[in-house]
Amino acid sequence: MRFVLLVGAVGLVAATAVAQEADPIAAMVQRLELEKYKATLKGLTQFGDRRQGTDRNRAAIDWIDQQLKAFGCTNTERLKYEYQPPPRNPDTPATAAPPRPRDQAQGGGRFRGNRARTGVNTDPMAQPDVKLRELNSQPTTPGPREEVYCTKIGTTRPDEMYIVGAHMDGHGWGEAANDDGSGTALVMEVARVFSSPDVQTERSIRFVLWNNEETGLNGARAYVEQRQALQGKEDPPGSRRYPEPRWLGMIQHDMMMFDHGMPRADGTVSPEQRPEADVNVEFQVNSKMAAESQKLAWFFYQANEKYATDYPAAVGPHMTNTDSTPFMDIVPAISLRENERGTQVGAGWDPHWHQPTDRYDTFSDKDFRLGLNAAQTTLAALAQLTGARLTGGQTPQAPATDTVAPAIPGVVAAGTKVQVIKSGFEGTEGPIGMPDGSLIFTETQANRITRIDANGNTSTFLENTNGSNGLAFDAKGRLVSVQTVPGQTKIGVIYPKGSEATLADSFDGSPFGRPNDLVVDRKGGVYFTEPGPNPQQAAAGSSTTLPPAVYYVPPRGKAIKIADGIERPNGIMLSRDEKTLYVNNSNGEYLLAFDVKPDGTVGNRRNFAKYESGSKNAAGVFTSGADGLAIDSEGRLYVAASTGVQVFSPKGEHLGTIPLSRAPQNLAFAGPDKKTLYVVGRGSAFKIQMQAQGYQGRAK
Ligand SMILES: [Zn+2]
Repeated sequence: MRFVLLVGAVGLVAATAVAQEADPIAAMVQRLELEKYKATLKGLTQFGDRRQGTDRNRAAIDWIDQQLKAFGCTNTERLKYEYQPPPRNPDTPATAAPPRPRDQAQGGGRFRGNRARTGVNTDPMAQPDVKLRELNSQPTTPGPREEVYCTKIGTTRPDEMYIVGAHMDGHGWGEAANDDGSGTALVMEVARVFSSPDVQTERSIRFVLWNNEETGLNGARAYVEQRQALQGKEDPPGSRRYPEPRWLGMIQHDMMMFDHGMPRADGTVSPEQRPEADVNVEFQVNSKMAAESQKLAWFFYQANEKYATDYPAAVGPHMTNTDSTPFMDIVPAISLRENERGTQVGAGWDPHWHQPTDRYDTFSDKDFRLGLNAAQTTLAALAQLTGARLTGGQTPQAPATDTVAPAIPGVVAAGTKVQVIKSGFEGTEGPIGMPDGSLIFTETQANRITRIDANGNTSTFLENTNGSNGLAFDAKGRLVSVQTVPGQTKIGVIYPKGSEATLADSFDGSPFGRPNDLVVDRKGGVYFTEPGPNPQQAAAGSSTTLPPAVYYVPPRGKAIKIADGIERPNGIMLSRDEKTLYVNNSNGEYLLAFDVKPDGTVGNRRNFAKYESGSKNAAGVFTSGADGLAIDSEGRLYVAASTGVQVFSPKGEHLGTIPLSRAPQNLAFAGPDKKTLYVVGRGSAFKIQMQAQGYQGRAK
C-alpha cells in the first residue's frame, strides 16, 4: 500500500514537470527578469521625481518612449491634453465631500490597528541630497501635457484590447521610485516580453504610462474623454486597423514594492519586507462594472496562484485613488498595489510614500521582487485573456494537436480532421509529392530530406542536402532545390545521385543571401524568391547585398531579376497554363500575380488576393505570415499563413481557412490521387483528406 502511494506521488511530480515545460505562458512568465525590471526602474529615477509640468517630466516621457521602442513596442503614440490646476478661491470653501467617520478609509474600507501619519512632502530642504534637490527644483507650470503609450496588435481580434497602465509622474522631492517608478517599470517589462518577435496575441494590449496622476488622475481622465467614443472604429474602413480598439478592461499598477506590515504603536515601520507580503488586487464595489471587475480581479488572483514565483495575491473591493477610477463605470477596472490603497497605504504602511526617501537606494531585492511578482501576475493573466502564444521552435511548446476543417465547398468537407503525422522535425519546408504517392520535405536545419509514406511512416530520403529549403522537380525528373548553407547558397539539382549541378548562385556578381522557394516550368526554367535578410540574419551581418526580389533562371541561362519592390517574397507558384506567376508576400497584405511573357520574364503585377488577416510584428512591420503556396486541379490557390491554410478561388476570392495547431510554413498535394494535402510547419507535419485534387500537370 505504501509502495503504491509512493509510485503515485512520483508519477504526479513528473507529470507536473512536463506540463510546466510545455506551458507557453510559464515560458513567457520566465522571460520577466528581475535585473531588467530594476534597470528600467533605476533609469526612471535619473529624472528625479518626474513631477508633471516640468522639463524632467517631459524628458522622462521621451526616455520611456525610446525604451518602449528598444523593447520592440515600436508603435508609440502620445496623448496630448491641457492641464490647468483647479482655481483656488480662499473666499469660497471647497465643495468637499462630507467628512468620513474616523475609522472609515477612502474607497470604503475600515481602518483597524495602528496608523501613522501620511502626506506629501513639499519642503525641498527635507531632501538631504543636494544633487537630487537641484534636479527636482524646477517648479511645475500649467499648460500642455503629453503621455505615451504603445500597442501590441492582436492577430485575430485587433479590434479589442486590454489597457495596462501605471503613472510615470511623482512628487515629494525624492525619486518617485516606488510611487510609481515601480509600476511604470513593471508595465514596461511586461511590454518587453509581449513585444518579443515570437509572441503573438489574438487580442490587442495597450501599455499606457499616465501623466498627472498625482494631481487627480488628469492624464487618465483626458484619455477617457478623448478616446472613449473612438472605440472599435476601423480607420480607414476595410484596413483592419483600429486606432482605438474596444476596451475589454483596464489594469493599473501603482506602488508595487513595499509591504513591510502595519506601523508599530510608535509609528515606525519594519525595515524588512514581511515574508507574507502580497500583491493587492482591488476593484470598486460601488462602480457600475463591479461584478465584471470583481471577476477580472479573481482572474488575476488565479493567474498569481499558478504563475507567480514568491508572493501571493489578495483581492479586495475598495479600489480608490487610481488611474483605473475614470474607467470603472465603463469597463472592468482593477488596480494592483503593494497594499490596499484605502486602509493600509492610507494608514501610513509605506513611510516613503510621497517622501524624499522614495529613492531607488531605499529598497532591497525583497522589495523589487514583489514588483516582479506583480508583473508575473499581470503577464500571466493578460497572456490568457488575449490568447497569447509562442511561435517559432526555440521555446518548449505544447504538442501539435489535431484540428478540424470547416466546410469549403468542393475543397474540404466540414469536420474533416487535420491530422498530426509527427512532430519534432528540425525545420519543415519544401513539401512535394513523389510519383509513387509518397511525400518528401526538407528538414533544413538537419540538412536532410525526409519521406512520408501513405501510412504516415517517415524515413530519410536524402542527407547532406546543402541546407535545402524549397523543392521542385523539373521535366526530366531531377530534384531541384534552393540551397541555403552560408557561402554556398544556390539553386541546384541535388537528386538523383550523379546529376548534381548548380543552376544559379549569383546575380550581377553578388551571391544570393538566403533564397527561399521555387517552381520549375515545363521548359525547365526555374522561378525562385529571394526574401532578403530576415531580422536575425541582418543582425548577424548577412553576406548578401541583394534586395528582396524574384528571379528566373532560363534553361541553361543565367539568373534574371524579374520582379522587385516586394517587401518579402516567399512562396511561388505557376498557374496550370503557366501564363500566370503567383508570389506570396510575407510582409504584405496581398498575394501577388504577374503575367508570364514568352521569354519567362513577367509583367502586369497586381494584387491577386487579400490575405485573411495579418498583424504588425515587434519591429512594427506588417506581417501576413504568408509562406508556401499550392495549386489544385481547378486553379484554386492554397496559402500557408499564420492563421492556417487560406484557400482562394482562381479569381482571388477567399473561400475559407483551415486552422492548424501550428502556424503552417509550406504545403503540397500528394498521394496516389493527389487528394491528400500535406502541411508542414514549426517542426510538425499534418495531412488533410481533401475533396479538391492537386494539379497533376506538375509535381508541385
Ligand atoms: Zn501613485
